[in-house]
Amino acid sequence: MHADIVVLPGDGIGPEVTAAAVEALQAVESAYGHRFSFNEHLIGGAAIDATGEALPQSTLDACRTADAVLLGAVGGPKWSDPKASVRPEQGLLALRKGLGLYANLRPVKPHPAALGASPIKPHLLNGVDLVVVRELTGGIYFGRKQRASDSASDLCEYSVSEVERVVRRAGQLARQRRGHLTSVDKANVLETSRLWREVATRVVADEFPDITLEHQLVDSMAMHLLSRPREYDVIVTENMFGDILTDEASMLAGSMGLLPSASLGDGKPGVYEPIHGSAPDIAGRGIANPVAAILSAAMLLRHSLGLDDEADCVEQAVSQALDSGAFTADIQGSGAAIGTRAATAAVLENLQ
Ligand code: ATP
Ligand code: MG
Repeated sequence: MHADIVVLPGDGIGPEVTAAAVEALQAVESAYGHRFSFNEHLIGGAAIDATGEALPQSTLDACRTADAVLLGAVGGPKWSDPKASVRPEQGLLALRKGLGLYANLRPVKPHPAALGASPIKPHLLNGVDLVVVRELTGGIYFGRKQRASDSASDLCEYSVSEVERVVRRAGQLARQRRGHLTSVDKANVLETSRLWREVATRVVADEFPDITLEHQLVDSMAMHLLSRPREYDVIVTENMFGDILTDEASMLAGSMGLLPSASLGDGKPGVYEPIHGSAPDIAGRGIANPVAAILSAAMLLRHSLGLDDEADCVEQAVSQALDSGAFTADIQGSGAAIGTRAATAAVLENLQ
Protein backbone atom coordinates (compact mmCIF):
# COMPACT_ATOMS: atom_id res chain seq x y z
CA MET A 1 0.00 0.00 0.00
CA HIS A 2 0.99 3.63 -0.42
CA ALA A 3 0.71 5.97 2.57
CA ASP A 4 1.52 9.61 3.12
CA ILE A 5 2.96 10.07 6.62
CA VAL A 6 3.60 13.53 8.02
CA VAL A 7 6.49 13.61 10.51
CA LEU A 8 6.55 16.37 13.14
CA PRO A 9 9.85 15.91 15.03
CA GLY A 10 9.29 18.94 17.29
CA ASP A 11 11.69 19.79 20.09
CA GLY A 12 14.18 18.27 22.54
CA ILE A 13 14.47 14.51 22.08
CA GLY A 14 11.55 14.63 19.60
CA PRO A 15 13.81 14.59 16.51
CA GLU A 16 16.00 11.81 17.99
CA VAL A 17 13.12 9.44 18.73
CA THR A 18 11.03 10.17 15.61
CA ALA A 19 14.10 9.34 13.50
CA ALA A 20 14.11 5.90 15.15
CA ALA A 21 10.37 5.46 14.49
CA VAL A 22 10.82 6.43 10.83
CA GLU A 23 13.60 3.83 10.50
CA ALA A 24 11.27 1.19 11.90
CA LEU A 25 8.56 2.18 9.39
CA GLN A 26 11.11 2.06 6.57
CA ALA A 27 12.09 -1.45 7.62
CA VAL A 28 8.40 -2.45 7.46
CA GLU A 29 8.16 -0.77 4.05
CA SER A 30 10.89 -2.91 2.56
CA ALA A 31 9.96 -6.12 4.39
CA TYR A 32 6.32 -5.97 3.24
CA GLY A 33 6.68 -4.10 -0.06
CA HIS A 34 4.73 -0.96 0.95
CA ARG A 35 5.44 2.58 -0.18
CA PHE A 36 5.44 5.20 2.56
CA SER A 37 6.33 8.83 1.94
CA PHE A 38 7.63 10.78 4.92
CA ASN A 39 7.08 14.54 4.89
CA GLU A 40 8.62 16.57 7.67
CA HIS A 41 6.92 19.70 9.00
CA LEU A 42 7.43 22.14 11.85
CA ILE A 43 5.58 22.26 15.17
CA GLY A 44 6.25 23.61 18.67
CA GLY A 45 9.37 25.55 19.58
CA ALA A 46 11.09 24.67 16.31
CA ALA A 47 8.12 26.21 14.45
CA ILE A 48 8.10 29.31 16.67
CA ASP A 49 11.79 29.90 15.92
CA ALA A 50 11.27 29.52 12.18
CA THR A 51 7.86 31.16 11.67
CA GLY A 52 6.69 32.79 14.91
CA GLU A 53 3.79 30.33 15.18
CA ALA A 54 3.53 27.06 17.15
CA LEU A 55 1.41 25.41 14.45
CA PRO A 56 2.01 27.01 11.04
CA GLN A 57 -0.93 26.74 8.62
CA SER A 58 1.27 24.75 6.22
CA THR A 59 1.79 22.09 8.92
CA LEU A 60 -1.92 21.79 9.69
CA ASP A 61 -2.76 21.64 5.98
CA ALA A 62 -0.20 18.86 5.43
CA CYS A 63 -1.59 16.91 8.42
CA ARG A 64 -5.17 17.23 7.21
CA THR A 65 -4.42 15.55 3.89
CA ALA A 66 -2.02 12.92 5.26
CA ASP A 67 -2.88 9.32 6.11
CA ALA A 68 -1.24 9.61 9.51
CA VAL A 69 0.93 11.91 11.60
CA LEU A 70 3.97 10.85 13.60
CA LEU A 71 4.88 13.36 16.31
CA GLY A 72 7.93 13.65 18.57
CA ALA A 73 7.45 16.12 21.42
CA VAL A 74 7.12 19.87 21.82
CA GLY A 75 8.41 22.41 24.31
CA GLY A 76 11.53 23.17 26.30
CA PRO A 77 13.15 25.79 28.53
CA LYS A 78 13.95 28.04 25.57
CA TRP A 79 10.24 28.76 25.03
CA SER A 80 8.93 28.45 28.58
CA ASP A 81 8.72 32.14 29.51
CA PRO A 82 5.16 32.44 30.92
CA LYS A 83 4.92 35.95 29.47
CA ALA A 84 5.64 34.77 25.92
CA SER A 85 2.71 35.41 23.60
CA VAL A 86 3.10 32.06 21.85
CA ARG A 87 4.09 28.77 23.46
CA PRO A 88 5.01 25.38 21.93
CA GLU A 89 2.21 23.47 23.70
CA GLN A 90 -0.36 25.64 21.90
CA GLY A 91 0.79 23.92 18.72
CA LEU A 92 -0.18 20.53 20.09
CA LEU A 93 -3.60 21.68 21.35
CA ALA A 94 -4.30 23.38 18.03
CA LEU A 95 -3.32 20.22 16.16
CA ARG A 96 -5.66 18.07 18.30
CA LYS A 97 -8.51 20.52 17.86
CA GLY A 98 -7.78 21.06 14.17
CA LEU A 99 -7.89 17.32 13.46
CA GLY A 100 -10.81 16.61 15.85
CA LEU A 101 -8.79 14.04 17.81
CA TYR A 102 -11.22 13.22 20.59
CA ALA A 103 -9.92 9.81 21.65
CA ASN A 104 -6.46 9.35 23.14
CA LEU A 105 -5.40 5.70 23.40
CA ARG A 106 -2.61 4.75 25.78
CA PRO A 107 -1.79 1.06 25.97
CA VAL A 108 0.16 -0.15 29.00
CA LYS A 109 1.77 -3.56 28.78
CA PRO A 110 4.76 -3.84 31.08
CA HIS A 111 7.54 -5.83 29.47
CA PRO A 112 8.67 -8.87 31.49
CA ALA A 113 12.34 -7.90 31.12
CA ALA A 114 11.73 -4.37 32.37
CA LEU A 115 9.48 -5.07 35.36
CA GLY A 116 12.25 -4.00 37.72
CA ALA A 117 11.98 -0.44 36.36
CA SER A 118 8.48 -0.05 37.85
CA PRO A 119 7.94 1.04 41.46
CA ILE A 120 5.13 -1.54 41.65
CA LYS A 121 5.86 -5.08 42.88
CA PRO A 122 6.60 -7.42 39.92
CA HIS A 123 4.04 -10.06 40.94
CA LEU A 124 1.26 -7.46 40.49
CA LEU A 125 2.54 -6.52 37.03
CA ASN A 126 2.83 -9.94 35.43
CA GLY A 127 0.25 -10.17 32.66
CA VAL A 128 -0.90 -6.54 32.83
CA ASP A 129 -2.25 -5.54 29.41
CA LEU A 130 -4.60 -2.56 29.42
CA VAL A 131 -5.49 0.48 27.32
CA VAL A 132 -6.73 3.77 28.71
CA VAL A 133 -8.97 5.72 26.32
CA ARG A 134 -9.00 9.35 27.39
CA GLU A 135 -11.49 11.88 26.00
CA LEU A 136 -9.25 14.59 24.59
CA THR A 137 -11.22 17.59 23.33
CA GLY A 138 -13.86 18.31 25.97
CA GLY A 139 -14.47 18.66 29.69
CA ILE A 140 -12.99 21.05 32.19
CA TYR A 141 -9.82 21.78 30.19
CA PHE A 142 -11.90 23.40 27.48
CA GLY A 143 -14.75 24.95 29.49
CA ARG A 144 -15.10 28.66 30.27
CA LYS A 145 -12.53 29.93 32.76
CA GLN A 146 -13.21 32.88 35.00
CA ARG A 147 -11.27 34.83 37.54
CA ALA A 148 -12.65 37.33 40.06
CA SER A 149 -10.66 39.17 42.71
CA ASP A 150 -11.11 36.45 45.32
CA SER A 151 -12.34 33.41 43.38
CA ALA A 152 -11.90 31.44 40.18
CA SER A 153 -13.89 28.85 38.25
CA ASP A 154 -13.48 26.33 35.43
CA LEU A 155 -16.58 25.01 33.74
CA CYS A 156 -16.83 21.28 33.04
CA GLU A 157 -19.22 20.49 30.22
CA TYR A 158 -19.95 17.39 28.11
CA SER A 159 -22.55 16.85 25.42
CA VAL A 160 -24.24 13.50 24.81
CA SER A 161 -22.54 13.16 21.43
CA GLU A 162 -19.09 13.86 22.87
CA VAL A 163 -19.55 11.01 25.35
CA GLU A 164 -21.11 8.69 22.77
CA ARG A 165 -18.29 8.91 20.28
CA VAL A 166 -15.48 8.22 22.74
CA VAL A 167 -17.36 5.38 24.45
CA ARG A 168 -18.07 3.91 21.01
CA ARG A 169 -14.37 4.04 20.14
CA ALA A 170 -13.51 2.34 23.44
CA GLY A 171 -16.21 -0.29 22.86
CA GLN A 172 -14.76 -1.12 19.44
CA LEU A 173 -11.35 -1.53 21.02
CA ALA A 174 -12.68 -3.72 23.84
CA ARG A 175 -14.40 -5.91 21.27
CA GLN A 176 -11.08 -6.47 19.47
CA ARG A 177 -9.39 -7.26 22.78
CA ARG A 178 -10.76 -9.16 25.79
CA GLY A 179 -14.29 -7.69 25.70
CA HIS A 180 -14.14 -5.87 29.02
CA LEU A 181 -14.77 -2.13 29.32
CA THR A 182 -14.41 -0.07 32.49
CA SER A 183 -15.99 3.39 32.40
CA VAL A 184 -14.56 5.79 34.97
CA ASP A 185 -16.47 8.77 36.38
CA LYS A 186 -17.42 10.53 39.60
CA ALA A 187 -21.18 10.00 39.26
CA ASN A 188 -21.79 10.23 43.00
CA VAL A 189 -20.86 13.95 42.87
CA LEU A 190 -20.67 15.40 39.36
CA GLU A 191 -23.53 16.03 36.94
CA THR A 192 -21.24 15.58 33.90
CA SER A 193 -20.34 12.17 35.36
CA ARG A 194 -23.99 11.18 35.74
CA LEU A 195 -24.48 12.02 32.07
CA TRP A 196 -21.29 10.11 31.23
CA ARG A 197 -22.53 7.01 33.06
CA GLU A 198 -26.02 7.10 31.46
CA VAL A 199 -24.62 7.50 27.97
CA ALA A 200 -21.92 4.83 28.45
CA THR A 201 -24.54 2.38 29.73
CA ARG A 202 -26.84 3.04 26.78
CA VAL A 203 -24.14 2.92 24.08
CA VAL A 204 -22.79 -0.39 25.34
CA ALA A 205 -26.28 -1.92 25.75
CA ASP A 206 -27.38 -0.83 22.25
CA GLU A 207 -24.20 -1.29 20.26
CA PHE A 208 -21.94 -3.67 22.17
CA PRO A 209 -24.11 -6.34 23.79
CA ASP A 210 -21.15 -8.73 23.46
CA ILE A 211 -18.83 -6.78 25.80
CA THR A 212 -19.10 -6.35 29.56
CA LEU A 213 -19.28 -2.87 31.04
CA GLU A 214 -18.21 -1.97 34.55
CA HIS A 215 -18.44 1.49 36.14
CA GLN A 216 -15.77 2.70 38.53
CA LEU A 217 -15.50 5.91 40.50
CA VAL A 218 -12.26 7.67 39.68
CA ASP A 219 -10.95 7.61 43.23
CA SER A 220 -11.30 3.85 43.58
CA MET A 221 -9.97 3.43 40.04
CA ALA A 222 -6.80 5.26 41.08
CA MET A 223 -6.34 2.70 43.82
CA HIS A 224 -7.22 -0.40 41.82
CA LEU A 225 -4.95 0.59 38.97
CA LEU A 226 -2.04 -0.05 41.32
CA SER A 227 -3.45 -2.86 43.48
CA ARG A 228 -4.96 -5.05 40.74
CA PRO A 229 -3.96 -3.71 37.31
CA ARG A 230 -4.23 -7.18 35.73
CA GLU A 231 -8.03 -7.05 35.93
CA TYR A 232 -8.42 -4.23 33.42
CA ASP A 233 -8.74 -4.44 29.65
CA VAL A 234 -10.04 -1.12 28.25
CA ILE A 235 -10.63 1.87 30.54
CA VAL A 236 -12.57 4.85 29.13
CA THR A 237 -12.83 8.19 30.88
CA GLU A 238 -13.19 11.95 30.51
CA ASN A 239 -10.37 14.36 29.81
CA MET A 240 -9.02 15.33 33.25
CA PHE A 241 -9.54 11.93 34.90
CA GLY A 242 -7.78 10.39 31.89
CA ASP A 243 -4.90 12.82 32.16
CA ILE A 244 -4.29 11.82 35.76
CA LEU A 245 -4.93 8.07 35.36
CA THR A 246 -2.67 7.75 32.31
CA ASP A 247 0.30 9.24 34.15
CA GLU A 248 -0.40 6.86 37.00
CA ALA A 249 -0.75 3.93 34.59
CA SER A 250 2.58 4.80 32.96
CA MET A 251 4.31 3.87 36.20
CA LEU A 252 3.18 0.28 35.73
CA ALA A 253 5.56 0.06 32.78
CA GLY A 254 8.44 1.67 34.62
CA SER A 255 9.59 4.33 32.17
CA MET A 256 7.92 7.06 30.16
CA GLY A 257 10.34 6.05 27.43
CA LEU A 258 8.42 2.83 26.80
CA LEU A 259 4.88 4.07 26.25
CA PRO A 260 3.21 5.05 22.97
CA SER A 261 -0.07 6.82 22.31
CA ALA A 262 -2.55 7.37 19.52
CA SER A 263 -4.95 10.30 19.22
CA LEU A 264 -7.86 9.52 16.94
CA GLY A 265 -10.82 11.30 15.40
CA ASP A 266 -13.43 10.21 12.87
CA GLY A 267 -12.14 9.62 9.36
CA LYS A 268 -9.25 12.00 9.81
CA PRO A 269 -5.58 11.11 10.22
CA GLY A 270 -4.55 10.00 13.69
CA VAL A 271 -1.59 11.50 15.52
CA TYR A 272 0.88 9.04 17.04
CA GLU A 273 3.36 10.12 19.68
CA PRO A 274 5.25 8.87 22.72
CA ILE A 275 3.58 9.80 26.01
CA HIS A 276 6.78 11.46 27.19
CA GLY A 277 7.69 15.08 26.63
CA SER A 278 10.71 16.71 25.02
CA ALA A 279 12.99 15.69 27.94
CA PRO A 280 15.25 18.76 27.74
CA ASP A 281 17.51 17.26 30.42
CA ILE A 282 18.72 14.55 28.04
CA ALA A 283 18.12 16.19 24.63
CA GLY A 284 20.99 16.01 22.15
CA ARG A 285 22.91 13.40 24.14
CA GLY A 286 21.83 10.37 22.13
CA ILE A 287 20.55 8.50 25.18
CA ALA A 288 16.77 8.85 24.82
CA ASN A 289 14.78 5.62 24.76
CA PRO A 290 13.34 5.23 21.22
CA VAL A 291 10.88 2.47 22.21
CA ALA A 292 7.88 4.74 22.94
CA ALA A 293 8.25 6.37 19.51
CA ILE A 294 8.75 3.03 17.73
CA LEU A 295 5.66 1.57 19.45
CA SER A 296 3.77 4.72 18.40
CA ALA A 297 4.73 3.87 14.82
CA ALA A 298 3.27 0.38 15.40
CA MET A 299 0.01 1.99 16.54
CA LEU A 300 0.07 4.12 13.38
CA LEU A 301 0.34 0.98 11.24
CA ARG A 302 -2.57 -0.62 13.09
CA HIS A 303 -5.03 2.23 13.60
CA SER A 304 -4.48 4.52 10.60
CA LEU A 305 -3.22 2.12 7.93
CA GLY A 306 -5.00 -1.07 9.02
CA LEU A 307 -1.71 -3.02 8.80
CA ASP A 308 -2.20 -5.31 11.81
CA ASP A 309 0.44 -7.91 10.90
CA GLU A 310 3.05 -5.22 10.36
CA ALA A 311 2.14 -3.60 13.70
CA ASP A 312 2.45 -6.96 15.47
CA CYS A 313 5.81 -7.45 13.81
CA VAL A 314 7.15 -4.09 15.10
CA GLU A 315 5.85 -4.81 18.61
CA GLN A 316 7.49 -8.23 18.56
CA ALA A 317 10.77 -6.73 17.41
CA VAL A 318 10.69 -4.31 20.36
CA SER A 319 9.86 -7.18 22.70
CA GLN A 320 12.77 -9.25 21.41
CA ALA A 321 15.16 -6.31 21.74
CA LEU A 322 14.12 -5.81 25.38
CA ASP A 323 14.37 -9.56 26.02
CA SER A 324 17.94 -9.43 24.77
CA GLY A 325 18.70 -6.69 27.33
CA ALA A 326 18.88 -3.74 24.93
CA PHE A 327 18.14 -1.18 27.64
CA THR A 328 18.63 2.58 27.56
CA ALA A 329 19.56 4.42 30.75
CA ASP A 330 15.97 5.16 31.83
CA ILE A 331 15.42 1.41 32.33
CA GLN A 332 18.83 0.08 33.20
CA GLY A 333 20.06 2.79 35.54
CA SER A 334 23.43 4.17 34.46
CA GLY A 335 25.70 1.07 34.20
CA ALA A 336 25.85 -0.72 30.88
CA ALA A 337 23.03 1.20 29.21
CA ILE A 338 23.06 1.66 25.46
CA GLY A 339 22.18 4.80 23.49
CA THR A 340 19.30 5.68 21.15
CA ARG A 341 21.09 4.43 18.02
CA ALA A 342 22.09 1.09 19.50
CA ALA A 343 18.63 0.55 20.98
CA THR A 344 17.08 1.33 17.58
CA ALA A 345 19.50 -1.04 15.85
CA ALA A 346 18.55 -3.79 18.33
CA VAL A 347 14.90 -3.40 17.30
CA LEU A 348 15.65 -3.17 13.56
CA GLU A 349 17.70 -6.36 13.72
CA ASN A 350 14.47 -8.21 14.56
CA LEU A 351 12.53 -6.48 11.79
CA GLN A 352 14.46 -7.85 8.81
P1 ATP B 1 6.84 17.99 28.82
O1 ATP B 1 6.48 19.23 29.52
O2 ATP B 1 7.36 18.22 27.43
O3 ATP B 1 5.79 16.94 28.90
P2 ATP B 1 8.12 16.96 31.11
O4 ATP B 1 8.78 17.98 31.93
O5 ATP B 1 6.81 16.43 31.52
O6 ATP B 1 8.10 17.43 29.60
P3 ATP B 1 9.36 14.69 30.03
O7 ATP B 1 10.01 15.29 28.87
O8 ATP B 1 8.18 13.87 29.77
O9 ATP B 1 9.12 15.79 31.09
O10 ATP B 1 10.43 13.85 30.86
C1 ATP B 1 10.28 13.51 32.23
C2 ATP B 1 11.50 12.72 32.66
O11 ATP B 1 11.54 11.47 31.95
C3 ATP B 1 12.80 13.43 32.33
O12 ATP B 1 13.77 13.22 33.34
C4 ATP B 1 13.25 12.78 31.05
O13 ATP B 1 14.63 12.79 30.86
C5 ATP B 1 12.72 11.36 31.17
N1 ATP B 1 12.36 10.84 29.85
C6 ATP B 1 11.29 11.20 29.11
N2 ATP B 1 11.29 10.56 27.94
C7 ATP B 1 12.37 9.78 27.92
C8 ATP B 1 12.92 8.87 26.96
N3 ATP B 1 12.34 8.64 25.76
N4 ATP B 1 14.06 8.24 27.27
C9 ATP B 1 14.65 8.45 28.44
N5 ATP B 1 14.19 9.28 29.40
C10 ATP B 1 13.06 9.95 29.14
MG1 MG C 1 4.92 15.99 30.74
